[in-house]
Amino acid sequence: MKIAILPGDGIGTEIMAEAVKVLAVLDLKFETETALVGGAAYEAHGHPLPESTLKLAQAADAVLFGAVGDWKYDKLERQFRPEQAILGLRKHLGLFANFRPAICYEQLTHASSLKPELVAGLDILIIRELTGDIYFGQPRGRRTAVDGHFPGAEEAFDTMRYSRPEIERIAHVAFQAARKRNKKVTSVDKANVLETFQFWKDVVTEVHAQYPDVELQHMYVDNAAMQLVKAPKAFDVVVTGNMFGDILSDEAAMLTGSIGMLPSASLDKANKGLYEPSHGSAPDIAGKGVANPLATILSAAMMLRFSLNQPAAADRIESAVRAVLSAGLRTGDIWSEGTKKVGTREMGDAVVAALTTSKTTMTTKS
Ligand code: NAD
Repeated sequence: MKIAILPGDGIGTEIMAEAVKVLAVLDLKFETETALVGGAAYEAHGHPLPESTLKLAQAADAVLFGAVGDWKYDKLERQFRPEQAILGLRKHLGLFANFRPAICYEQLTHASSLKPELVAGLDILIIRELTGDIYFGQPRGRRTAVDGHFPGAEEAFDTMRYSRPEIERIAHVAFQAARKRNKKVTSVDKANVLETFQFWKDVVTEVHAQYPDVELQHMYVDNAAMQLVKAPKAFDVVVTGNMFGDILSDEAAMLTGSIGMLPSASLDKANKGLYEPSHGSAPDIAGKGVANPLATILSAAMMLRFSLNQPAAADRIESAVRAVLSAGLRTGDIWSEGTKKVGTREMGDAVVAALTTSKTTMTTKS
């Protein structure tokens, strides 16, 4: 097994160091190779996704990704901006299904901005389509308007589009994921206004005929945004397009207390994937040693489960994270009165220690 390690920018390098430490104590046979991506790659090679990094990602069985970006690159031409590396990797690796679980750990119920009773035991899965929608539709650009409310004025435009196969494959992924959970899919659209999402709704309904054991509910995106804060536990699997998924998954992230806790997986049709925390490079706290590494460590667990066929090792990491939280250790983003504030490295060390203890316990038991 080969894992491509792409730490990226900002807190990316700090949180990745902790995830790599955790992987190293698992006694699994795999090879890792690290490469530059994002702003760091632009500085060194003049491109956020150099050919060598892309080749490494293509050759690997899985990619563990930190985060990219910094405000200082905002004035670069779009193709050279760090975030283009993620879009490039998704495109070249054929990653179309983004899994974002939003789990509220019992120990963090009070870190959520919602009332504890609304989020206690929350475990939902947002599946976001990654390759289509208004993010990639052509044509797009700037021009002088020939019609509309202000003919002759400068305007910008994008194109929202989805093809039948794109909707079908993400719908299958959602129904299959729901079968392994509570058998309920909520498909989020804006079918009342957008042609693209009326088509989305029609195709999801057609695919549903193959999954009679799974309940399907359709919901408009504005209502979904509301229901996510009103009664989040009513959801099981949420499937939606690229833009709605981008927004709703960040909203769901906050239900759990901190975006620093949320892993994600982006999978291709053969379950090869790119695994990354749901957050960005957090330039505001980069270099301070205070970032929460748990989202990246939990992303590594997802990688072991989905792409590397090591579910037991994934379970061990998740149990170690729970043990560390139960012991009262918290990075600043999830800290509350009565818990112990620790830095990035201390948090990683604590997970490693919990894993080592669980291994000793297992050896003793056997
Ligand atoms: P962000 O997720 O980086 O940060 C949002 C807020 O959450 C900040 O206050 C930050 O300090 C905090 N935060 C994020 N991760 C944290 C962690 N692990 N521990 C503690 N606190 C954490 O989003 P942003 O500020 O909008 O974007 C910053 C940069 O990241 C931008 O350049 C953006 O384009 C980029 N970005 C990259 C990715 C990615 O690499 N996949 C995703 C989103 C944003």
